[in-house]
Amino acid sequence: MPVCANESCNHSASLQCSICTGVFYCSKDCQVTHWPQHKAVCSVSSIRLLPSGTFMVENIDSRHPIFKKGELCPLTALYGHPILIYCPRLHSGRVEGNMANNQAAVYLRIEPSDGLAPISWQTDYLGDCLVARRDKKPISKELLETMHQYHSSLLGSDYFEKIMEGVHPPGHNINQGEFQKFYNEYWKQDGRD
Ligand SMILES: [Zn+2]
Ligand SMILES: [Zn+2]
Repeated sequence: MPVCANESCNHSASLQCSICTGVFYCSKDCQVTHWPQHKAVCSVSSIRLLPSGTFMVENIDSRHPIFKKGELCPLTALYGHPILIYCPRLHSGRVEGNMANNQAAVYLRIEPSDGLAPISWQTDYLGDCLVARRDKKPISKELLETMHQYHSSLLGSDYFEKIMEGVHPPGHNINQGEFQKFYNEYWKQDGRD
């Protein structure tokens, strides 16, 4: 068993930091004592959405502004497992990477009620965006890719066709039942809901 990460303690440790899962403690007290040091290195797995449509896994600081300023992806909130999306340009006035149209990011901000993303997100130069789980647990590329497919299929459905006239989403769409099934499996496997 690992030794407690609190330097002044030598006990064996079985409690894991739930954010980075990289350190162990013998007790909640030791974790609290050690947090001022640990928070500088404690990181969360997130996904960077590039305007090119590429999804890249990226470790971010557990105090990253996404956890304060990030916006809920409405569809994931609807399914009870909230994911946050953060656009440096919209939320901090900072530009990261290539400042171009980011379709995947716009999809994630779509409201299921009307099929539209907020006006501020409907710009041609969102640039790079970050996505992370609000509970700070690791997020997978597979989850985002499946969500992207589902959003595409929503835009292609009769329901949204009226609103999103002229929008032609990419192929390989999935329907709501398939998405629901994937989503439920994802969180079951995750086992840390
Ligand atoms: Zn300890
Ligand atoms: Zn940690």
